[in-house]
Amino acid sequence: MSEEPRPNILYIMSDDHAAHAMSCYGSVINETPQMDRIADEGMRLDNCFCTNSICTPSRASILTGKYSHLNGVPTLRESMDQRQMTAPKLLQAAGYQTAIFGKWHLGHGGIHDPQGFDRWCVLPGQGLYHDPKMFDQGEERVFEGYATDIITEMSLDWLERRDADRPFFLMTHHKAPHRPWEPDDRHADMYEEIDIPEPANLFDDYSHRGTAAREAKMRIGRDFNERDLKVEPPAGLSEEEFIRWSYQRYIKDYLRCVASVDDNIGRMLDWLDDAGLAQDTVVIYTSDQGFFLGDHGWYDKRFMYEESLRMPFVVRYPREIAAGSVNDDLILNIDFPALFLDYAGLETPRQMQGVSFRDNLRGQTPADWRESFYYRYYMHIDGGHSVWAHYGLRTARYKLIFYYEEEPGPQEWELFDLQEDPMEMHSVYDDPAYAGVVAELKEELARLRSEVGDQENPWPEDW
Ligand code: CA
Repeated sequence: MSEEPRPNILYIMSDDHAAHAMSCYGSVINETPQMDRIADEGMRLDNCFCTNSICTPSRASILTGKYSHLNGVPTLRESMDQRQMTAPKLLQAAGYQTAIFGKWHLGHGGIHDPQGFDRWCVLPGQGLYHDPKMFDQGEERVFEGYATDIITEMSLDWLERRDADRPFFLMTHHKAPHRPWEPDDRHADMYEEIDIPEPANLFDDYSHRGTAAREAKMRIGRDFNERDLKVEPPAGLSEEEFIRWSYQRYIKDYLRCVASVDDNIGRMLDWLDDAGLAQDTVVIYTSDQGFFLGDHGWYDKRFMYEESLRMPFVVRYPREIAAGSVNDDLILNIDFPALFLDYAGLETPRQMQGVSFRDNLRGQTPADWRESFYYRYYMHIDGGHSVWAHYGLRTARYKLIFYYEEEPGPQEWELFDLQEDPMEMHSVYDDPAYAGVVAELKEELARLRSEVGDQENPWPEDW
């Protein structure tokens, strides 16, 4: 074990919070002063990505350091096999005090048994925003109040009672701002008097892309239900007006939920200051994946497109990370556990596929850092949200996506040149000018599939 003092690790994660709804990422639709505080006093990651953009799989990857095909959680339907090696288990064994409060979402059928935590209290599945039922070390209890406040208070209460002589690892996992976007009373009237700016591609017609984008069932307006909208739309709206009205209904509630998360992060940062722990605590704020905020006319995630692929990630650790710094290395959710272990002076176990990015956070990116990464989304039929299964790779400039439906279903490719088309509105897969790029990227995709050990079908027919 390392001789260096081992820092505390406070890992705060929300659910479905996109980076472009954080002011430190240049949001034009809201302000997040407390999240910005972490970025201002630490670092913002501009290229942090998930390897499968959906809740349960991303959470499994964050604990195990493995891709979905190896940790056994490719979709929302699987429970995580708790016998796997996880970062919390290793930290606990190394003397860290460990706890998780809030959303777990890795057990189904009444199984809510986070392993590797001294203390846990988690929501069943998605859980409720108001007066949530939670499993408190296995015991079912109902907590009065708003989930984001409750999860914060549980976290602070545990911190107050901890053994001050040993470092802690705390996972504060908010349910917000996940669907159905129910704000608390304090933020219920926020944005009431204003219109939130619409994204430039709210009325995307899905031309110049494959079938998957056109067929995706997550359109603002058309695919919302009554629970999402909460009130009856005004009578007599045209289709375009209804989309605009639905967007405002949705995005305001979403941002109100974000505002509550932001306030509660402020409470935790203030607590660290008051306790004199700010210097010795690594504070991370992230979300399990990104989200479409009306971009491409969508809500939801799943796609390998930027808004859903990118995870917000801000981190503060004054002993090692320069205030106000920014990093654009390709960093993945599977790297998180290796980072936690590195801070604890522990080696990354061989079965973890991710690597520590502690040096990157210090401004010393290793010379052999990855220049591309593999992504795979499996869940193509889920309660009415249909997004084609796909896998692909992203480099600093390009993104190649291979879509498939149930075999022997259709197969399609998309290629985006992110430098020329950052909004991903025009696939250049069939453009002869990109033939060389396509050939190179296909070769790289085959190499990545082999490297991560994903040999599952289908392979493209026109490989
Ligand atoms: Ca999520």
